[in-house]
Amino acid sequence: MNNKTNYQYLLSDISSLKGVGTKTKNLLKKKNINNLFDLLWKLPKSYTDRGLSSKIKDLKIGEIQTVTIIPQKYNFPRIRKLPNRVLCTDDTGEIDCVFFNSYEGYIKKILPLGKEITVSGKIGHFRNKYQITNPKYVSEDSSLIKQTHNKYSLTEGISEKIYNKILNQIISNLPNFSEWHSKNVMLKFQNISWNKSIKELHKPQNIGNYRSNFYQRLAYDEIFSTFLVNSEIRKKIKRIKKKKKIINANKQNLLIKNLDFSLTNDQKNALDEINKDLSSPNKMFRLLQGDVGSGKTIVSLLAALNTINSGFQVAIMTPTEILARQHFNLAKKIFPKNINLELISGKSEYRMKKEILKNLEINKIDIIFGTHAIFQKKVIFRKLGLIVIDEQHKFGVNQRKRLSDKGGVDCDVLLLTATPIPRTLTMTIYGDMDISIIREKPKNRKPIKTYSKLEAKIDDVLKFVNKQIKLGNQIFWVCPLIEESKKLDHTSAVIKFEFLKKQFPNQVSLLHGKTDLEEKNVILNDFLNNKFKILVSTTIIEVGIDFPNANVIVIENANKFGLSQLHQLRGRVGRGEKESTCILMFKSNLSDNAKKRIKILKDSNDGFLISEEDMKLRGFGDILGFKQSGIKNFKLADPIHNSDLFTLAEKEMRRIEKSNEDIGKFKTLIKLYDRADIINDIA
Ligand code: ADP
Ligand code: MG
Repeated sequence: MNNKTNYQYLLSDISSLKGVGTKTKNLLKKKNINNLFDLLWKLPKSYTDRGLSSKIKDLKIGEIQTVTIIPQKYNFPRIRKLPNRVLCTDDTGEIDCVFFNSYEGYIKKILPLGKEITVSGKIGHFRNKYQITNPKYVSEDSSLIKQTHNKYSLTEGISEKIYNKILNQIISNLPNFSEWHSKNVMLKFQNISWNKSIKELHKPQNIGNYRSNFYQRLAYDEIFSTFLVNSEIRKKIKRIKKKKKIINANKQNLLIKNLDFSLTNDQKNALDEINKDLSSPNKMFRLLQGDVGSGKTIVSLLAALNTINSGFQVAIMTPTEILARQHFNLAKKIFPKNINLELISGKSEYRMKKEILKNLEINKIDIIFGTHAIFQKKVIFRKLGLIVIDEQHKFGVNQRKRLSDKGGVDCDVLLLTATPIPRTLTMTIYGDMDISIIREKPKNRKPIKTYSKLEAKIDDVLKFVNKQIKLGNQIFWVCPLIEESKKLDHTSAVIKFEFLKKQFPNQVSLLHGKTDLEEKNVILNDFLNNKFKILVSTTIIEVGIDFPNANVIVIENANKFGLSQLHQLRGRVGRGEKESTCILMFKSNLSDNAKKRIKILKDSNDGFLISEEDMKLRGFGDILGFKQSGIKNFKLADPIHNSDLFTLAEKEMRRIEKSNEDIGKFKTLIKLYDRADIINDIA
């Protein structure tokens, strides 16, 4: 029925399996299990300890197995300490049933000569023959013997029996693929094939055998296929020929000279890398990764300036209008007067919008700032040369690729992200892009003082806040969402708002997920303009916006957040010249683990280091909501425990890139690991 070397079988719908009706199918689909391949990663968590029945020749020594045999001959040696034996056979071989301390009469009764009997127990090997000692289950009726049943974490409404049934079907029909990995790579896994690995993976006795060759091999398959597809996308984009930009270094350096700070070395290096891309004949697809406050904006504006001076237009896209306006204002301040800047906002009047659209089309506007609105169909650029996308770390590969296509051939793409993540993850998530990293913070930064406080001590916090307000400073007050039965709950923020309003009349505002966009913009603008002092919010305060006058952030129920998230929140303050403070509040005394986490935050302001620690403590997938970002989580691979496999995969990927090796032999791997949508585009 199925082609034994074809991956199509594994990609067929789960309803093609026996025992999967509409009900089971729908339940599995809810769990994102759509095809047979998806089901392969549904692993048993434990098992009942009876073996599967098998023929004598297939018995596995050392394992508990069940086999149907015919007793042929008794051997009762009448010498003390020597066991009684019964020679048994089936049509494939011989096996001895061995009994210590059992009466002959009993043995004859349970193993009558010439009758078909099913026995079960641990299979041994003695003097070149299989044996089974003191078989536990002996029965004339094989159906009475319990067989192995893997135990699964059950999806509601699906029984263990069904899982066993459907998984056994797939495992016994696994296609035999020809090996896709190189000899060198295979040596590391002792040449264990994909097919064999999957079979081992599903053997109950192998549960949790993470260091084994089969497990490592399968984890490597996941990592490598991701890296390979990323590399293909990167190569494909790089092959696109474009008109080179000609960088006017004098004009660039004049702007740099007029800044009221000097660029950090990392900023300079990043700018150099970007400039090289701009002036190359190949399309740029680059990520600028740097911690909050590391100064990415100025780097991107310099790239914009160089692009404009080369006769092209630039579009700068931000997640919020406020951030767009902030960048717009900065550019207006530092760019030469002959450059035409525009901001397109939801509030722009119809007539003005029309004017802007017209001017874009006739190349009267050099640079436009806005939210995703700037990428609507009706927005037509005459000569778009660079798209900068700020703070869209949640964009998945597909979204990024679509954007890069949108600008047209001559358009370079630069993404900015303030999400420092460990290298293994960067390669996984952003491997389709070239990457520039800013690690260094501007020198004038004062470290943010980080404290932890019990909620009972809130009076101390209020006193401190009061003092800061008197000094003319502003305060962020963050309350986590309480997630109950999937409904987001803002009550903690609302309650705190009411409480603080009484303490600081007319000085407090509230923002949460239900605040409408218009109102949100008004509130954020008022906060920017120092019209009130305390902004109470859930975690929705957007990344990227500079609130130079806010220098205190209070984070309630801080143990609800991961380290990276706390670090990001903390990064809302401490961007200006002022001393800044972050107060982490806790409901009760800290556990040892929580203490460890807080210490990391207090000791370090390095987002890369913090994210690494975060991942060690909480595991991959949780940090910074990558789960929701459309980025597929690995089923087996783990960026912490398998960092060696990530390194190997990167090395192999680079080797293939360098030698221009044909990746056709990886087709099955790529198709199976569900990157087909992307690779289709490439082929
Ligand atoms: P992010 O990387 O988070 O986007 P920004 O670009 O918003 O950071 O920069 C944060 C602040 O640091 C801004 O006020 C900016 O003017 C300032 N800044 C940027 N680069 C430097 C530098 N080299 N020295 C001092 N201040 C800088
Ligand atoms: Mg920014």
